[in-house]
Amino acid sequence: MKAELSGASLMPLLRQILNVQREFRDLVIAELPLRKKTSTIQNYILECERILFSPRLFREICIRLASLMASHNRETDFITLIFSLEDSTLEALATTVQSCLEPDLVAAMEIAVRELRLHKLSPLDPSLLAEFFLAAIVPFYTAYARQQAPVGEDWYRGWCPVCGQYPVNGYNRPGDGRRILGCWMCETEWSFSRLTCPICSSNQEGQLMLFLEEDPLRRLQVCDDCGYYVKITDCTQAQTGCDLQLENAETVFLDILAQRKGYRPASHPHRLTREMR
Ligand SMILES: [Zn+2]
Ligand SMILES: [Zn+2]
Repeated sequence: MKAELSGASLMPLLRQILNVQREFRDLVIAELPLRKKTSTIQNYILECERILFSPRLFREICIRLASLMASHNRETDFITLIFSLEDSTLEALATTVQSCLEPDLVAAMEIAVRELRLHKLSPLDPSLLAEFFLAAIVPFYTAYARQQAPVGEDWYRGWCPVCGQYPVNGYNRPGDGRRILGCWMCETEWSFSRLTCPICSSNQEGQLMLFLEEDPLRRLQVCDDCGYYVKITDCTQAQTGCDLQLENAETVFLDILAQRKGYRPASHPHRLTREMR
């Protein structure tokens, strides 16, 4: 689940959510192993393939996440809804979100929630329900990506080779300093030119970089051609790269800075008017 603008106070919860998602990613891999396919990727793998899904595991993830959410805010009761849903509805949710023509997975999940009328079964807002179910389906995507993501450096596009989402952040890796972008959904990482905008491919000699003086290693790469930004962490002097999911949550101040200047997050370029969620 993504950080809201009051991100700092949400960090412990986001860490806990991430831990649950990663624990279940490993469970999904163990229970639903998938042999790596060797065909060449055209646009992105999941454009023509489907994740492996288990309604039982999905329900378990939902319950774990729901109790986390409830411990943080008693108003957000997802548990009642989860227990009222049949396995077939959970299957339908996974199918609908993947077959949706909307390429942005946040928007696709909102459409799926409305199509299956899940918001009629709960007092919670449809967009909140969609955000919750998206967080719960993440382990199936990360498991799939772990098993199918291309290795090596043969992917030079601005979007994720596995699930097609655009990156919210990336880092310059230790050693050779190459730019690595990461998928906010399935955690796939791929290398990409530092000089190119991942959204519109505009190639300017050094895109505009913005940062706060007190934290110069965390920067915004903004594109004045399309108005989108990605957050970049400089790890060239570090021992390792960084955990992009945690880094995303820890750099909400950069989102605020960018959005105050009128830029939009690259992660959701298909949603023209939507603010960061
Ligand atoms: Zn992805
Ligand atoms: Zn651009």
